[in-house]
Amino acid sequence: MNMFKEIKDAVSVRDAASFYGYTVGRGGMMCCPFHDDKHPSMKVDKRFHCFGCGADGDVISFVQMLFCLDAKGAALKLIDDFRLNIDTGHKKSARRMNRCTRQTQEKAYEHKVLLAYEKELEHFKEKMACISSTLLTWEHEHAPTMEQWEADMPDERFITAVNNKDPVEYILDTLTNGTDDEIYEEYRHRKEIIEKYERKITEVTERSA
Ligand SMILES: [Zn+2]
Repeated sequence: MNMFKEIKDAVSVRDAASFYGYTVGRGGMMCCPFHDDKHPSMKVDKRFHCFGCGADGDVISFVQMLFCLDAKGAALKLIDDFRLNIDTGHKKSARRMNRCTRQTQEKAYEHKVLLAYEKELEHFKEKMACISSTLLTWEHEHAPTMEQWEADMPDERFITAVNNKDPVEYILDTLTNGTDDEIYEEYRHRKEIIEKYERKITEVTERSA
């Protein structure tokens, strides 16, 4: 049997969503991880469908989108995370593990997940600190001269700094001082947050060159 089909038969989107830390409510509804969803608008069972943004697919595409993987990567992750006894073509044959070994492995796995999260979080913080430092530098180095001020033509870098430093500081502050839930909420959106500010900085830098 095909590896993808075996995985889909063994793990529903609902299983995966719970496993990866999402709360699935009554009727299989959860907040959509793929758009800014305040009220649960995604239905999960064997497949998923978001009534807000239209995201739709099976457990493979769910994991692909969640972790930015290709289909093969998502399949291997599911096999690994759910300890599925599925032949991927290059893995050692599955052994029966006794309960004790399994528990040890689960602990080791949890530890690995936690370490990966902390490492990624650290990376996110570094990126935000770097963005923040660029904005602060711009604010000071490109503060309007008297002429620019009177002509109402401040440097675009100055305007960008003034408009963006507070939200960036807020995110940094949350990452440092927030509760676990608040930190995780920012963490979930780290890719789009970093991309948004980095793109802005690049665009303004290019225009100001
Ligand atoms: Zn959605």
